Amino acid sequence: MRDITGIIIHATATRPAWMHGAPVASKVAEVRRWHVKDRGWSDIGYHFLIDRDGKVAAGRSLERTGAHVAGHNTGTIGVAMFGGHGSTERDAFADNFTPAQDAALRQLLADLQERFGPVEITGHNQYAAKACPGFYVPSWLKTGAPASPRGTAMPNAVEVARWRLAAIRDAANSALNELPNPES
Ligand SMILES: [Zn+2]
Repeated sequence: MRDITGIIIHATATRPAWMHGAPVASKVAEVRRWHVKDRGWSDIGYHFLIDRDGKVAAGRSLERTGAHVAGHNTGTIGVAMFGGHGSTERDAFADNFTPAQDAALRQLLADLQERFGPVEITGHNQYAAKACPGFYVPSWLKTGAPASPRGTAMPNAVEVARWRLAAIRDAANSALNELPNPES
C-alpha cells in the first residue's frame, strides 16, 4: 500500500437528478468512461464516489495513485460526491448535497482515518481556483454539520428543505428540456 498523507474531496459537477434511479455502479461507470475515453486516463480519477442516497462506491484501487488534483495526487485519496453542478466554493454543503451524503462522507473519512491515521482532509478548491467540491471543507469539518456560507449553523429542517427544493427545481428544468420544441 502506498503512503497516504491526505484525503481530498471533490464533486462530480453533475445535476442533483442526474441518472436518477440508476444504481451507483452505473454512475461510477459513466464517470469512468469520461475519464478513460474523454481524458485518456488509465482509470477513473477518484478512489471513492458517494451517491445522492449516501451509498459509497469504490473507484480506482486505493493502491494506485489517483488523478483528481494536479500536483497533489501522490499520497492522497480522492473522494467525489455526485452533484455540485453550478456550485461555488462559498456555497453551504446543503446547497449542493444531501444529508445522506453528509453522513456518508463523515463516516468514510472516519473509516479512512482509522486505517491511515489522522491524515489531512481538504477540498479541491484549496489547491486550485475551482468551485469543486462546492463548499469550504475546513468550515464543514469544524461545524460537524453542513456549514452555511455565513458560518452559522442552519436548522436541519431548513437544510433538508433547501435540498428538496433544489431537487424539485432540477427535475422541473429537466422536464422542460424534454418538451418538444414548438418551432420544430
Ligand atoms: Zn475536484
